[in-house]
Amino acid sequence: MLDDRLPRRDLLRLAGFSTLSVGLAACGRVAPAVQPAASALPAHPSAEGTSASADEALARLREGNQRFVADKESNPNSSPARRASIAASQEPFATILGCVDSRVPPELIFDCGLGDLFVIRTAGHTLDHAVTGSIEFGAVELKIPAILVLGHERCGAVKATIEVLEGRAEALSNIFVLVEAIAPAVEAASTRPGDLLDNAVEINVTRTMATLSQAPLLAPLIKEGKLKIAGAVYDLDTGVVRFLEG
Ligand SMILES: [Zn+2]
Repeated sequence: MLDDRLPRRDLLRLAGFSTLSVGLAACGRVAPAVQPAASALPAHPSAEGTSASADEALARLREGNQRFVADKESNPNSSPARRASIAASQEPFATILGCVDSRVPPELIFDCGLGDLFVIRTAGHTLDHAVTGSIEFGAVELKIPAILVLGHERCGAVKATIEVLEGRAEALSNIFVLVEAIAPAVEAASTRPGDLLDNAVEINVTRTMATLSQAPLLAPLIKEGKLKIAGAVYDLDTGVVRFLEG
């Protein structure tokens, strides 16, 4: 079990932001942004797929969140008839890459139902091969036109990363992978004025967006105008999803 723990001496090296990259490199871990080969997915996408454009998809998410915030949900697409109508195939209109936090369930906060959203959730929306591959599958095979990277206020994964980097906590076992992935966002946030956690959450979103935009199967779709990647931060107190500019 001891081998699964981050060695104490590495924790100490991680404690200072200025030595962060050195400390991570010394751990010999591979960055999680490496993408699978393009040949890993079918060459001929399904004829099925949503006809909604990226902007329409994002507008639908905004409108759903407004209903959620106003406590005026329509709870769409949750009937037995809907279940039957999508049993043979799916046409989700947006991919949501969010955090595992139990307080941020995409279908609820966007007032969506069965077959509407293609959801991937990891702590701090951390990327790895499986996550990126899943998103690529959604974009290529299901022709989903929009990806939303959804961070949230007071994210425990980002908070834990801050605590590890400041030497106040240890990242045990595979949790270190999360800390390693989120650490650059915390490092960048440490140079900005304002709340460190809030800034790190937002930077973690934009960094995830940037990494995804370079995925082999996503980059060409973005260039062709067939796919858009957006970012947002969810407010735990108000329920509002704040979309980031750009
Ligand atoms: Zn979180």
